[in-house]
Amino acid sequence: MPRTAAKKSSSPQNNHHAQSGPIETPRVAKENPFESMLARFDLAAEKLGLDPDVYQILRRPDRELTVSLPVRMDNGRIRVFTGFRVQHNIARGPYKGGIRYSKDVTLDEVRALAAWMTWKCAVVNVPFGGAKGGVICDPQKMSTGELERLTRRYVAAITDIIGPDRDVPAPDMNTNEQTMAWVMDTYSMQKRHTVTAIVTGKPVGLGGSLGRRTATGFGVEFVTNEAIRRWKIAKPRKATVAVQGSGNVGGIAAERYHELGYKVVALSDVHGGVYDPKGLDIPKAMAHLQKKRSLQGFPGQRVTNSELLELPCDVLVPAATEDQITAENAGRIRAKLIVEGANGPTAASADAILEEKGVIVIPDILANAGGVTVSYFEWVQDRQGFFWQLDEVNRRLEEMMVAAFHDVVDFHERFKVSTRIAAYMLGVHRTAQFTLMRGIYA
Ligand code: NAD
Repeated sequence: MPRTAAKKSSSPQNNHHAQSGPIETPRVAKENPFESMLARFDLAAEKLGLDPDVYQILRRPDRELTVSLPVRMDNGRIRVFTGFRVQHNIARGPYKGGIRYSKDVTLDEVRALAAWMTWKCAVVNVPFGGAKGGVICDPQKMSTGELERLTRRYVAAITDIIGPDRDVPAPDMNTNEQTMAWVMDTYSMQKRHTVTAIVTGKPVGLGGSLGRRTATGFGVEFVTNEAIRRWKIAKPRKATVAVQGSGNVGGIAAERYHELGYKVVALSDVHGGVYDPKGLDIPKAMAHLQKKRSLQGFPGQRVTNSELLELPCDVLVPAATEDQITAENAGRIRAKLIVEGANGPTAASADAILEEKGVIVIPDILANAGGVTVSYFEWVQDRQGFFWQLDEVNRRLEEMMVAAFHDVVDFHERFKVSTRIAAYMLGVHRTAQFTLMRGIYA
């Protein structure tokens, strides 16, 4: 354990000793992802008795870079975009984190996501620190050529602070395998040789890993199985599940649940969802989605995305976007278990309400860590130049997810805190340990 902190004054940098009631209640004024992260971090630090010096180090990102990116648009004019790369903490290894393209992305959001990556990598015990990147743009309104030029200019602008031993980007919202191929190529052209390990989430032929695409959904399913067994939530593999979002995380998780005999009663996309208490035919729903680009018209009762969250079911899997469960609707959630496929789907303001109701939460930094785990495998394979079979990737993924699940549950029981705070405590503790061991340079 980190050394027990001596209580110091409650300056803004050192306020983690703020009092908490019998149920931990992160204090956050409004739903700001960085504030949500800090509220939970402060609580975890307090429960751990975190060394106040280490607390000050971990509370801030190591480095924040904002870059201006001039890009020649298809109409011949130059447009200057803003990009960010935030590197939160390097104690456990090179920084690791995705690149998000969105018209709404803010520095605060990127900061929160970078810190989440630090805790997430520590929870699943992969040797990385946390980082995140973002570019303010509206990818739906840009051509492929514009997106390629933007990506290459962004990589050129952050090239001095990334690298296979420094900071390894990956896909996130609105970036994909193609984007990662451009990142790899741009970096490689600058270095004058191919550097596959600069980025993960690449196409398999360019040094990507088998099993990366399905990793997060599989990880969600692995921890669901463990939680159902651990808390006897339903008969093994007989639970009913509602999944919000049917993309890379939600769609794959729903397919896995269905394959294993779970009854998936609801599934949604951005336009809304379908509900059938007798269980949906998930392969047919996914085929419909692929063909029509929407679940509209698929047999079942139409529900909105917010109605889906409140349906009767054993397991709720928010796998779409952030801040879906808030203080406003948390009281109406009927699931016994929430498995957070998305990053930040539950606002800090909902934590205490869910806990009071006895809803168990498998938090994002554990539940969706399958993606970064197989990203780690991809980085290892690139550095070895030797690629693994799919069953080896999935077997190792399951081992690491199950181990992380039990490590979090041990903290939950030992410190008598919610599973979410237990996961934060584990992530913060492992990061703090390495920070203390490494000491302060210069
Ligand atoms: P995706 O783009 O493949 O799918 C997102 C899904 O959510 C789609 O079905 C979309 O229609 C739906 N959606 C989008 N906006 C919505 C909204 N406002 N309301 C309801 N539904 C909405 O994305 P993804 O890769 O599945 O990621 C989903 C979440 O999981 C994100 O929070 C992401 O950061 C997180 N995550 C993804 C991975 C990964 O490996 N893909 C890893 C860790 C965390």
